[in-house]
Amino acid sequence: MTIALYPGTFDPVTNGHADIATRAASLFDQLIVGVYDAPPKKLLFDTKDRVLLFSEAVKRVPNIKVVPYKGLTVHYAREIGAQVMVRGLRASSDFEFEFEMAMMNRKLVPEIEVVSLMTRLEYQFLSSSLLKEVCTLGGDIHNLVPHHVETALKAKLKV
Ligand code: ADP
Repeated sequence: MTIALYPGTFDPVTNGHADIATRAASLFDQLIVGVYDAPPKKLLFDTKDRVLLFSEAVKRVPNIKVVPYKGLTVHYAREIGAQVMVRGLRASSDFEFEFEMAMMNRKLVPEIEVVSLMTRLEYQFLSSSLLKEVCTLGGDIHNLVPHHVETALKAKLKV
């Protein structure tokens, strides 16, 4: 049985993240979406909400489980018995960072393979931070996130 871990902060989950998770779930027996708890950057949603929002977005995919985790991602991957770590790749901007991270992770835990899935064209320029900025300024985000995320985001940003 192949277990894959898809880690991130997901603040909040976007259609780009949900698409990567759904596609990864069709490649592996079990996909664990790891929501990073207490990362050093300032976040809009707390961990519980980020887990709930992602769970709702993929509730129709039976082999996806969304869970919070702390500490080094590769250590968590090893702890849950994951053989694979999934990442999403947008345009060229993600490549260098993801490449460096994959090299470091391989050094730390050589038995775990990183599998990068190319994002769909329509989500190439979608990031959680840009999404929050557009939403704050009153832009239309309904094609970029699931409906429940749009509602939660507008309530949080009071727009
Ligand atoms: P981070 O891991 O830097 O906190 P995120 O939580 O935003 O970043 O994203 C987690 C993973 O999802 C990363 O692999 C990232 O490249 C990927 N990702 C982010 N946005 C998209 C998108 N629009 N389409 C596909 N993958 C994405």
